[in-house]
Amino acid sequence: MRRRWRNWSGEQRCRPLLIQRPRTREGLIAFAIAATEQDRPLKAAGSGHSFSGAALTDGVMLDIGLLNRVLDWDRSGGRVKVEAGITLHELNRRLDRRGLALENLGDIDRQTLAGSISTGTHGTGAAFRNLSSQVEALELVTADGSLHEIDGSDADALRAARIGIGALGVVYSATLRTVTNFRIDRTDRARPLAEVLDGLDHFAGSLDHFEFYVFPHTDTALCRESTRTQAPAEPPRPAAVYAQEVVVENWLAGAFAQAARHVPAAIPTLSRLAAAGAGKNRKLDSSFRVYASERRVRFTEMEYAIPRESAREAVERVLEIAGRRDLEVVFPIEVRFVAGDDAMLSPAHGRDSAYVAVHHDHKGDWQPYFDAVAHVMADYGGRPHWGKRHSLTAHELAPLYPRFEDFKAVRGRLDPGGAFANPYLEQVLGPVTAPKRRRRR
Ligand SMILES: Cc1cc2nc3c(=O)[nH]c(=O)nc-3n(C[C@H](O)[C@H](O)[C@H](O)COP(=O)(O)OP(=O)(O)OC[C@H]3O[C@@H](n4cnc5c(N)ncnc54)[C@H](O)[C@@H]3O)c2cc1C
Repeated sequence: MRRRWRNWSGEQRCRPLLIQRPRTREGLIAFAIAATEQDRPLKAAGSGHSFSGAALTDGVMLDIGLLNRVLDWDRSGGRVKVEAGITLHELNRRLDRRGLALENLGDIDRQTLAGSISTGTHGTGAAFRNLSSQVEALELVTADGSLHEIDGSDADALRAARIGIGALGVVYSATLRTVTNFRIDRTDRARPLAEVLDGLDHFAGSLDHFEFYVFPHTDTALCRESTRTQAPAEPPRPAAVYAQEVVVENWLAGAFAQAARHVPAAIPTLSRLAAAGAGKNRKLDSSFRVYASERRVRFTEMEYAIPRESAREAVERVLEIAGRRDLEVVFPIEVRFVAGDDAMLSPAHGRDSAYVAVHHDHKGDWQPYFDAVAHVMADYGGRPHWGKRHSLTAHELAPLYPRFEDFKAVRGRLDPGGAFANPYLEQVLGPVTAPKRRRRR
């Protein structure tokens, strides 16, 4: 009988023919070969935290969650080789025990390493690139069971595979460049929106990590301002963390969303109350304990990367849309900053970027809001996050990525039969283009 699979928000669902859970590299290879012999499509799935249909399949799903071992440490060079199904949560703790850390992280840690790098998961920090930039090598299993060791000696394959959206094969392991572990001193505070928009370059440039949230109908920016430090941690009491992060940030947000669902006319008042209620809050702890928080309230999300210099104008336009009463937006917009990188499909490819994220009640009518915001993003050459909602097609995406065709060439080389294709990849990449044959003279 087919098993059901659904993503974190419950909106993306599929019924794979089989869900296989390899425990070893050899097991993974055997499952890939078996599926290919039976002519079944294959898809690796991480922990289902993508809002897009990237991980969906009606063929054989390879759930990589049991591939979670650390394979090799090179402490002097700060390199670590790990199986790619490890969650960021687990990886952070194991690194910390060895005095190491990931350079930067997003705002949750429940994703697998493979899932995070495959979609270009990022945190914030104008000088820091997305997670996949820390990958120095990958082991990739293709549909015929071959194991490809991809490293700097085939730089183009690595630039493709670092953010591969699951299109090239199954990432079995990743070798990561890490840094000495450190603490983050973070202050959350409210600032007038005008002050933040006027000082974007200053805030993003002078703080190691800066991001802000704005509720529609308000003129307050809720800022997260973080500095990297070696000062000793001042871990809050677990009860205080629970009170702030679980009760305040989640349950109140949940109650807020529920109230707004039933009384949409109250949204502007609720937004103002939420913004006014935000106090000053400080946290000084190990980096991974500060970056990641609990997200218990379900929502759906769209996020675009745009050139950093367009951030102010774009944010003002998005806020104008979010304030439209007919769209019933109760969630804040979120703005982060990421350094440019060279992965072929990185939304921050070749440009320092601002990421603008919009959220909506996943049970509500999010489409008109997201469409209107996508329209604005198009004016800035916006590139969507591969793991979040968007409706762009290969035809629209190709001009946004200078190396789009190069990525497709690597795909044609590694997955010539399109075994890893699914409707999402059809949408964003189009069909697999078989590699061109060299003509014999
Ligand atoms: C509450 C929440 C908060 C989030 N916060 C952030 C954030 O701060 N920053 C950010 O950038 N994103 C964020 N995301 C998005 C999330 O990081 C990405 O969608 C990420 O891909 C999820 O990883 P996953 O393990 O769940 O992968 P899945 O969603 O299961 O899969 C994602 C893609 O990776 C592919 N994949 C998975 N495993 C492999 C493998 N072994 N080999 C090849 N391909 C593979 C899948 O086929 C699919 O294409 C958030 C999501 C949620 C739900």
